[in-house]
Amino acid sequence: MKVMKFGGTSVGSPDAMNRCAELVEREIKLSGKNPIIVVSAHSKVTDKLLDAAKKAARSSCEADIDAAMETIANRHYEILDGLKLPRSIAEKNLAELRDLLRGIHYVKEVTPRLYDYVTSFGERLSSKCFAAMLRARGHTNAEAINAYDMGFVTDSKFMNARPLPTTYDSIAEAYKPHASKLLVVTGFIGKDKNGDITTIGRSGSDFSAAIFGAALKVDEIQVWKDVPGVMTCDPSLIKTARPLARLSFEEASELAYYGAEVLHPSTMVPAVMREIPVRVLHTFNPEAPGTTITTKAEIDPKYPIKCIVYKEDQVLINVRSERMLGMEGFMARLFAIFERHHIVIDMITTSEVSVSLTTNTTDEAKLKSLTHDLVDLASKVEIQKDKCILAVVGEGMKHSVGLAARTFKAVASSGVSLQMISQGASEINITFLVNNSEIPAACHALHAEFFGA
Ligand code: ASP
Ligand code: MG
Repeated sequence: MKVMKFGGTSVGSPDAMNRCAELVEREIKLSGKNPIIVVSAHSKVTDKLLDAAKKAARSSCEADIDAAMETIANRHYEILDGLKLPRSIAEKNLAELRDLLRGIHYVKEVTPRLYDYVTSFGERLSSKCFAAMLRARGHTNAEAINAYDMGFVTDSKFMNARPLPTTYDSIAEAYKPHASKLLVVTGFIGKDKNGDITTIGRSGSDFSAAIFGAALKVDEIQVWKDVPGVMTCDPSLIKTARPLARLSFEEASELAYYGAEVLHPSTMVPAVMREIPVRVLHTFNPEAPGTTITTKAEIDPKYPIKCIVYKEDQVLINVRSERMLGMEGFMARLFAIFERHHIVIDMITTSEVSVSLTTNTTDEAKLKSLTHDLVDLASKVEIQKDKCILAVVGEGMKHSVGLAARTFKAVASSGVSLQMISQGASEINITFLVNNSEIPAACHALHAEFFGA
């Protein structure tokens, strides 16, 4: 059995949805088995839901909420109409959403818990629409099911919840009575132990797909997207970027972590746990091979680097302290301050008298109170914004000498200066910091160096 996950663009229009249905039918024909289908919300719906919740809490005018609600309803009607499915499929959920937004409007407050309740409608609606489409095509056993009715239990960290360790067993158990059905499961959402709806972070449906795949011990987790696979670099920047045929779990995790938008950073965890291959495939070009991610790395001496990735809008914090740096306990105290402010550190480098750290926290108030505490420890604290972490990733690095030199030379030749450099112990990436504005120049230089164009 396979998991087939379809992203927002793949279920973003009636045509796209029909393509997904064809892919499901092809899979049933080829394997003789029903896949587990996991879907995202129709494209842009989650954004619209978040926006509507915000408006409901802030706007003094009820008409604003009605307008937001109408846009959301129309988005769903347009897809249902296009598929010649009755609008009644969406009506019950839309009515509940309308009431919920009114409630938020009356209390003038929206909490993370309510955001999750509101955004859950995206996947709850798209899964219903997907299953109805399959039934209309003759698959009478197609059924939409909410992930939380399939044993998906998370902690209560709203908007970024994590599955409880027991989730895998409870999904396997909950699946049993449905085994003969063609299930369409909601991505992105779960429920905590109290029965409140949670979401697992933006773009989390990939992660849901991997969790269901691991729980049901499937042969393969297919992630169907609007791109041909994981690319050597951001194709909007590098026209010659090309899809990668194979990646190891370790490489894929690094890529996701460093901003390759094609995969949700947590996706790999359940897949690695059960060693299930993950395939990133192109909904609009299903014959293309896509990218297959497995345990084993493919080492091609010609291409020791697999991919160039970047994470923009990072903040660089320089902490200077002549007195204390060599002293024991300095780092512990420094980290404790970051922990107290709930600020996650990404890169870190140290020199004789200073420590440089990066974070993706850009919140002014948070950075201000962090600085306030850091000055107790340091003689000078400096914050610089609009930075970008660039990384070159590939397991081939372990077996190849002189890659750091090639990397830095390429970047230097493009006139970009490196501000921090680090190579992790895993030796499968080299990361460094540049200015946001220097991303295109640095990526072009690196792509030319490692991929020849
Ligand atoms: N619909 C959610 C989002 O837009 C989850 C997903 O698409 O994977 O973030
Ligand atoms: Mg998405």
